[in-house]
Amino acid sequence: MHEEPGNRALTRLAEVRARVDAAARGAGRDPAEVRVMLATKTQSVADVQPLVAAGARLLGENRVQELVAKGPELTGMGAEVHVIGHLQSNKVNAALRWAACVQSIDALDLAERLSRRCEAVGRDLDVMVQVNVSGEASKFGVPPAEAGGLAVRVAALPRLRLTGFMTIGARSSDRAEVRAGFARLRAVRDEVLGAGAPGTAEARELSMGMSGDLEDAVAEGATIVRVGTAVFGARPAP
Ligand SMILES: *Cc1c(COP(=O)(O)O)cnc(C)c1O
Repeated sequence: MHEEPGNRALTRLAEVRARVDAAARGAGRDPAEVRVMLATKTQSVADVQPLVAAGARLLGENRVQELVAKGPELTGMGAEVHVIGHLQSNKVNAALRWAACVQSIDALDLAERLSRRCEAVGRDLDVMVQVNVSGEASKFGVPPAEAGGLAVRVAALPRLRLTGFMTIGARSSDRAEVRAGFARLRAVRDEVLGAGAPGTAEARELSMGMSGDLEDAVAEGATIVRVGTAVFGARPAP
């Protein structure tokens, strides 16, 4: 029997959910604390639709061009779309048309621009500070030592609601190293929550962990794991 691609993705999503649940239980956490976000870069609306219909409402897009192209249909199905890739300042207006959250805040001037635009159009926006926990030069995000300071300044901006922190794990086969990076993000969050600066009280989210490293992320406290290939299969080379 031929299996529809949509059904295959649904099966894989259930497998991912089972991995998350097992990792949470193994860490003594309530699996309900961890949401699965579908990383939908390069996937068509038709590929994503069955998953949204089955209840996978949290989506992440990397590129504003794709967000603009797919945003109307995806949000029309009831999906909540977050920007999870580097956001250029000149793409802020386009991103704001469809994004419920920008997880990739890595500079104050980007946050200020988003804040001003939100004021102009009369809306609020959830944001997360992206942290480069591995120090790899290829990755966006602020160094852990600067993340708390940026978070406090972002949280003070009008119309922005700081909901937490995001990172991409180290590109390493050494699990201990990958896991230490996730622990670093948790430490940043706990420090910010503990300091209690204005606007930071809701910054509880830890968006970390992908197809290959979600177990370690969940063990270190992830509240959102972002999954692409484990659900959709390998992406075509860029
Ligand atoms: C592509 C991507 C993911 C998902 O990665 P997979 O390894 O395919 O699960 C998660 N987060 C970001 C920021 C991504 O670009």
